[in-house]
Parts: sequence; structure tokens; C-alpha cells
Amino acid sequence: MELSYSEIIARVQPSPTLALDALAKSMAAAGKKVVNLAIGEPNFETPEHVREAAIKAIRDGFTRYTQSEGILPLREKAAEMFKKDNGLDYSPEQIVVTNGGKHALYNAMRVLFNPGDEVVIPSPYWVTYPAQVILAGAVPVFAKTSAADGWRLKPEELERVLSPKTRGIIINSPSNPTGQLYDRGELEELGSILVKRPVWIISDDIYEKLVYDGSVFSDMPMAVPELKERTVICHAVSKTYAMTGWRVGFMAAPREVARRAAVIQSQMTSNPCGVAQKAALAALAGPQECVDEMVRIFDRRRRLATRLFRDIPGFQTDVPKGAFYVFPDVSGLYGGKIKGTSVDSSDDLASLLLKECEVACVPGKAFGEDGSLRFSYAASDEDIALAAERMAALLSGAGKG
Ligand code: PMP
Ligand code: GLU
Repeated sequence: MELSYSEIIARVQPSPTLALDALAKSMAAAGKKVVNLAIGEPNFETPEHVREAAIKAIRDGFTRYTQSEGILPLREKAAEMFKKDNGLDYSPEQIVVTNGGKHALYNAMRVLFNPGDEVVIPSPYWVTYPAQVILAGAVPVFAKTSAADGWRLKPEELERVLSPKTRGIIINSPSNPTGQLYDRGELEELGSILVKRPVWIISDDIYEKLVYDGSVFSDMPMAVPELKERTVICHAVSKTYAMTGWRVGFMAAPREVARRAAVIQSQMTSNPCGVAQKAALAALAGPQECVDEMVRIFDRRRRLATRLFRDIPGFQTDVPKGAFYVFPDVSGLYGGKIKGTSVDSSDDLASLLLKECEVACVPGKAFGEDGSLRFSYAASDEDIALAAERMAALLSGAGKG
């Protein structure tokens, strides 16, 4: 008797960003001086008042199931945030609290797509989008973007990939991995095409608060109000408040989408962790100076990383406008040997950097762009400088051959 496995799971790989982080951490545990710029995770502590709120929740005995869609005060606060920051009206019934931003995205895909539906993903993309589309039974369709176009989807390319089977598009701005963001005019142009089609928009706004150089955040419902009824905004406290481990995200969605997402949750997870929800409530309701301070530090690191990476031979580094990643084009290094090793791909180069420099980054291939590497600058200034110094030493004449 032969047992079988789910075919759909066999088509999905583990998250490469999480896998590389685990590898870098295991090397560090084995005594190597690894500089880990692989994972996109703020290296700050969760703000004190947020941690205190969680401790208080435990002390107060807030230890039972909550509503599947999340506690009302948190959904109210999230709705207030959308109104205050983006001018978008959502009622608390349109907010569903989830186990992190990833879970908000997955809930959205399960509610919106059927087997065989095509979902457009601008490439480079965050590693999890195609995996989740496949897990939902739908089909990822990639739309190309280029460094020359600021890694933003152009209307012509959107038109090219749309088909009668297209049912969704994922827009992530500011973007992981490129750090670029759309302005309102660009979204209006894309929106004017989408408005004519039966297409849902999943707007992954998780890096909304992390924008620099006076750039202004916009998303599709802000740019094209008509599309609000077709957009699911996925968000989280993870990046904004250095709360990756708490696992709290939320979606803001048309009422019927939110209702269906709550149904899935009631059957799958019952509810996100109650104590973590209380912490997220403190994050959204409390003072926001901690966010300003983290953004200021990320901005400093962004400038540092961009300046230092520009001096690394073979790295072409654009200035990112948001999130906390740099995504240099390193394809000029392909086709040769470095320290006796052939380098023909982002996998080759990332492995070499890990071996020779003990610098962990993520190969661009994981994001659909083999010409680049992704480095997270959500790391200390010292680590960023050390990584740049080691890589420059390897890739300058002295280290080659
Ligand atoms: N979207 C993007 C673009 C991300 O980079 C991340 C980071 N993991 C997430 C969603 C999910 O975040 P989390 O589940 O940790 O809240
Ligand atoms: N979003 C982060 C990253 O891209 C966290 C890792 C993950 O969730 O895959 O590195």
C-alpha cells in the first residue's frame, strides 16, 4: 500500500528568506562571525509600552479565545489608522486581525481565488507571493519590471500579462525586495486598466510607514477610490513596531471579503493570540514617536548601505525609497571566477559571499531576479559597514582569480 502526499504542497518550497536566516544563525552558533543581512527583520526591541501591555494582559487574565476576526478595540484602532493616515473609511467589520501579515495575505488568496485563476505578480516579488497563490490553487503570472523603470510595473506590461483568466494582482509598495514605491499617478495609470476587468487587488502595505526622502505612500484605494471595493489591504505591526515575533497582522477589505476571511479563521486558527492582540493594540493606540525614531535610524542605515555598496566592485546599487532592503545589480560579476570559484548566478555569488566573507544575503533568484542580491539593512551600522568592507575586499582586484 503506497501512501500519497498532497500534490499542491509538493509544488511549494520553504521560504528562502527564512531558510537563509536559519543557516546564518546556525553558522553564528558554530562560532563563525557571520554578518546576517539576509532576513528582513528590525533588530530593535519591541517598544517598552507594547511589551508592558502584553504583560498586563497576562496579569489581567486575558487568556481565553477572542473573536475569530480579532478583538473589537484593535479592529477599531486599525480602522482609525486607515482613516487618519490614508483618508480611507473602513468600519471595524471590515478589519480582520490575523496571525501576521503573511496570514492576512493567505486568507485573502483563499477567499478570492479559484483553481486555475491567474494572479499577476510584478517581478521581482517577495518570495511568499507565488507560493501562496499556488497554495490557493491559483496560477502566478509574472509581470516584468526593470531597474531602469525603478522596478515599477508599467501599464504596457500589465496589459501584456492580463488574460481572460486574470482574477487578481498583488501590489507591494514600498517593495520587498527592491525598496521602491509607486507614486499616486503611477497607481492611477495601473488602476485605469484594472477598473475595466474583474480583477481583485491585494495591496501589501506592510512597509507603509518605512518611507524616506520625503516620499509619499499611496495605495490603490487612495489613488483610485473606485477600486477600494475590489482591494484587500494586507498590513501588520511586524515591521512598523519591531514586532515580527508577535504574529499580528490585519486586513482591511470589502465587507463580504472580511466576513469570509473571518469564516476561514474561525475554522483554522480560531483567533490570533489574544495577548499579542493586546500588544498590537498598544502599538497602534500608543505614542508613535518610537516609529519615527526607528524610521530615522533605518534612513541613516539606508544611506550608509547605499554609499558603501556603491564602492564595491561589480555592485550597481540604486537608492531605495522605502522598506529596508538594497537590491544591487551584481550581474556584471557573472561569467568569471572569484577566488577560483565560477560565478554565474545570484545563487553562486550569495554562496561565495557566505563562504568567503561570512556575509549572508538572499540571492535575487528567490525574488525572480537572478541579476541581483538582496541585503537587508535592518541591521546595526557596524554590521552593514563590516559586510561592505569584507565584500569590497573580496571583489577588489586583490581577492579575485
Ligand atoms: N509582506 C512582505 C512584503 C514582507 O516582507 C513580509 C515579511 N515577512 C510580510 C508580508 C509578512 O510579514 P509578517 O507575516 O511577519 O507580519
Ligand atoms: N519578510 C522578511 C524577509 O523577506 C521575513 C522573512 C519571511 O517572512 O519570509 O526577509
